[in-house]
Amino acid sequence: MELVADRLATVRERIRAVAARANRAAEEITLLAVSKRQSAEAIRAAYAAGQRAFAESYVQEAMEKQAQLCDLDITWHFIGRIQTNKTRQIARQFAWVHGLCDPEHARRLHEQRPPDQPPLAVCVQVNLSGEHSKGGLSPAALPDLLEVCARSARLRVRGLMTLPAPATTEEAQRAPFRSLRILRDHMATPERPLDCLSMGMSEDLEAAILEGSTLVRIGTAIFGPRPTSMSGPMRGQP
Ligand SMILES: *Cc1c(COP(=O)(O)O)cnc(C)c1O
Repeated sequence: MELVADRLATVRERIRAVAARANRAAEEITLLAVSKRQSAEAIRAAYAAGQRAFAESYVQEAMEKQAQLCDLDITWHFIGRIQTNKTRQIARQFAWVHGLCDPEHARRLHEQRPPDQPPLAVCVQVNLSGEHSKGGLSPAALPDLLEVCARSARLRVRGLMTLPAPATTEEAQRAPFRSLRILRDHMATPERPLDCLSMGMSEDLEAAILEGSTLVRIGTAIFGPRPTSMSGPMRGQP
């Protein structure tokens, strides 16, 4: 687990280096550790190295780990595909949801967010490449969803998220991130600044930060490859 601390230090250094290249303060960029399919022990190792924000993609798996880690002061983000029959658990168990792209899910999360918790922070997922497999709504559908969120006091829209298809050159990686930032600039209002741009993963965090990312979602570069065997920590998950 020393490895996790070392890898985390390397990721922080990558963020610092590219922030300097972009003339940005590294503190503007939140590092979200994507711990899906990783063990509770791996999360503890990252926590011991100072990491506080963690993201999960599978509700059942997340709840098991949250129970094992309830002694830690973790901010939990949900970054998986939202299933209608899981919105109640998502509304209760997480502080943030990235990947909202359905008005019906917005309505359910609003209704199901417990009143004694702060509003659920939301990033709306936009699909800029037209690839349906990746989830997210089209830019044309964004105003309607933002409208639904604005009427939902239990939700607080923080910004936009995107998950582009992998690309190999930095210029190709930057294109969808730039599109998301431009879309955000068009949609932002004083009441709804959309100040969070949730974009960038292990392979393309530099490209994302150069285009204005304020939150990078990093799994492999912190925890190593995700176990795929059904007997591992992901047991029972798709
Ligand atoms: C798994 C996942 C990540 C992390 O991907 P890595 O390549 O391991 O850094 C980021 N965002 C989303 C939405 C994911 O599902």
